[in-house]
Amino acid sequence: MAKIQMKTPLVEMDGDEMTRILWQMIKDKLILPFVDLKTEYYDLGLLHRNETKDQVTVDAANATKKYGVAVKCATITPNQQRMEEYPQLTEMWKSPNGTIRSILDGTVFRAPITIDAIKPVVKNWKKPITIARHAYGDVYKSVDMRTEQPGVCTMTFKGENGEEKTLTVQKTDGPTVWQGQHNKDKSIRSFAKSCFQYAIDTKQDLWFSTKDTIAKVYDGEFKKIFEEEFENYKAKFEELGITYFYTLIDDAVARVIRSEGGYIWACKNYDGDVMSDMVSTAFGSLAMMTSVLVAPDGTTEYEAAHGTVTKHYYRHLKGEKTSTNSMATIFAWSGALKKRGERDQLPELIAFGEKLEQACYDTLNDGIMTKDLVGLVEPGFKATATDSEGFLDAIAERLAKKLA
Ligand code: NAP
Ligand code: MG
Repeated sequence: MAKIQMKTPLVEMDGDEMTRILWQMIKDKLILPFVDLKTEYYDLGLLHRNETKDQVTVDAANATKKYGVAVKCATITPNQQRMEEYPQLTEMWKSPNGTIRSILDGTVFRAPITIDAIKPVVKNWKKPITIARHAYGDVYKSVDMRTEQPGVCTMTFKGENGEEKTLTVQKTDGPTVWQGQHNKDKSIRSFAKSCFQYAIDTKQDLWFSTKDTIAKVYDGEFKKIFEEEFENYKAKFEELGITYFYTLIDDAVARVIRSEGGYIWACKNYDGDVMSDMVSTAFGSLAMMTSVLVAPDGTTEYEAAHGTVTKHYYRHLKGEKTSTNSMATIFAWSGALKKRGERDQLPELIAFGEKLEQACYDTLNDGIMTKDLVGLVEPGFKATATDSEGFLDAIAERLAKKLA
């Protein structure tokens, strides 16, 4: 069989530990036999980031801007414990995801991968709920402090060209904690654009929630920028029959629980952090989530939502069998290949991505799954746990039949 051809390379970002092992297996078993794979390869494994003083992460992000589509393996974000584990590290390198996000200026969209045998905990959810998380500012770039005496705290802005504003935060009569946070119009606007574009691309309604009744200026700005941006997408929304809906975060939470699913829920940074864990857990597991970073210019980076699965990696190193779920990483590849196919008008490549995903669903529906999922299936559904490799072999077998 002739291999499926590509035009433009994908930006391939390799990673760490168990996901790096799965990465190679996915390529060997599911992609290379069928696709004449073109990638520009960047090794974001921790030691190579260290050798390049993290330049490789910046280069990979810039290549993503150049080519428009990337696929990323999970990577270690070093902490104190990792500094001890890898004594050769010269610095506690920053999170690659953070670096890439700030270069691409994007929004992270996470959606559950669902099968009939694994029902969401919320029984009326019939369709996936996608969380769109703004990934800049607020409490994640805040400063905070504690004071002991009675007194007054003020907040002052000094503009470079003379603009100056001071606010009294609070007068206090004793020990107090304080916090200062910010966000930028430019980042909020990018967030809004990415959300509207993603709603159009996936033909789903868009919900957006903040607490603008309380944070009148701060959250009010988010609401206002979304309204302004919506004007640019309104016609397309009407044409597709999808809607944009704004509501308060507490009202949104109640509506989400009562809903059937099937929409995108855009959240500010902290809300998105918390709500994406709630939604993903209620749907099943982090290994059954797709995750994609979308920049306002349409640049996309596909990844798995989970980490490098360290515990499984150490078992693998000892020669023990692992049962690590590769669904999220496979869907990162299929998503990236489909997007590459769309951009380069390669219907065969798009069809390949779809068949790969279908082969994954068929495998799970045949009851072949990794250990983490076996515990989640509905009573009466017969599921057998397989090891990491066996799961990929079962998918490869089904994929080959679909492509024959
Ligand atoms: P993790 O790698 O997501 O794993 C936590 C636990 O979740 C695992 O021990 C495993 O549970 C279960 N799990 C996660 N993914 C699984 C999969 N695909 N199949 C089966 N089980 C899975 O999180 P972590 O242990 O907190 O972090 C490990 C490293 O990943 C850290 O160095 C962190 O910096 C990095 N990280 C990277 C990313 C990213 O690049 N996107 C995201 C998060 C974390 P059991 O052990 O019970 O089987
Ligand atoms: Mg979190």
